[in-house]
Amino acid sequence: MSKQRVEELTKLLNQYNKEYYVLDKPSVSDREYDRLMQELIELEAQYPELKSSTSPTVRVGGAILEGFNKVQHEKPMLSLGNAFNEGDLRDFDARIRKVSPNISYVCELKIDGLAVTLHYRDGQFVKGATRGDGVVGEDISENLKTIQTIPLHIPYKDPLEVRGEVYMSKATLDKLNKQRAEKGEELFANPRNAAAGSLRQLDSRIAAKRELAMFCYAVPSAEELGCQTHDESLQKIEELGFNVNPNREVCDSIDGVLAYIEKWSTNRFDLPYEIDGIVIKVNQLNEQQKLGSTVKSPRWAIAYKFPAEEVETILKDIIFTV
Ligand code: NAD
Repeated sequence: MSKQRVEELTKLLNQYNKEYYVLDKPSVSDREYDRLMQELIELEAQYPELKSSTSPTVRVGGAILEGFNKVQHEKPMLSLGNAFNEGDLRDFDARIRKVSPNISYVCELKIDGLAVTLHYRDGQFVKGATRGDGVVGEDISENLKTIQTIPLHIPYKDPLEVRGEVYMSKATLDKLNKQRAEKGEELFANPRNAAAGSLRQLDSRIAAKRELAMFCYAVPSAEELGCQTHDESLQKIEELGFNVNPNREVCDSIDGVLAYIEKWSTNRFDLPYEIDGIVIKVNQLNEQQKLGSTVKSPRWAIAYKFPAEEVETILKDIIFTV
């Protein structure tokens, strides 16, 4: 019975991954996907003998489209573990504090877009890529160059890699979907799929018209910039000209994190871009290293996912069907 359910869930999640990551056309909500993934994680924990080495629970979702050159990431681009309620967050905090009792957290908005990485040499943008399967991504440099918020020159000569999220604003997505509806074309289900579909165009003139933007949120070798905390690394790249989301906050305790989440659970509707949760990261870089990562996600960070917003979905359906 459990074996059969594990097989069913694996098949479904692999199908949904393909629709979401390869075709940019999901057929189920993220909430439904997360629910099935959670069920599989729990079944595999209960029956470890049923866990395969290629299970969707251990793989970073994603694939590489034909037509793009491949880029091997120097450090893997991982996914994030999920938290859905206060209990999950308190468990996360307890796990962290067993290893690193004196850390603080950085809370950031979880931008609903597509993770990309940018490479600079001698102060020039030289290459950018998608996350892909976490190890190998797609070279989308030409499309990234069309994004106004990505600096092409920076006042820093040493090699530098900066990661972040390319996204489409709510207003741009509405405008694009109205245009598509008028032409009888299929609508983008959400800003993530719109951003991904735009960035993975072989013709960069199409990406250029899509009014994409980027928030940067990670520096894989932040120590080389002389930083000791994640927060310092964000300040540093901001000084270099990268667009960093201003709504981040350093919190000393999990109660501070919970207050931040509560604030953004309502304030998010006033943002001009979509967020689908809050990312919580250990601030101290040496403690991040101590905590390490699994093959799928770092142990020093977690994504809190907002509950599904039915009212918003209904409103969107009305907007898009008129
Ligand atoms: P994730 O979206 O849960 O979290 C990791 C990603 O968050 C990062 O790769 C990055 O792109 C993004 N992110 C945004 N802001 C960030 C910030 N400030 N700091 C760090 N990262 C930030 O993980 P994932 O592996 O990209 O995607 C899995 C999720 O995608 C699932 O939980 C589900 O919600 C959705 N999904 C949906 C379907 C579907 O069919 N509906 C299929 C596959 C995946």
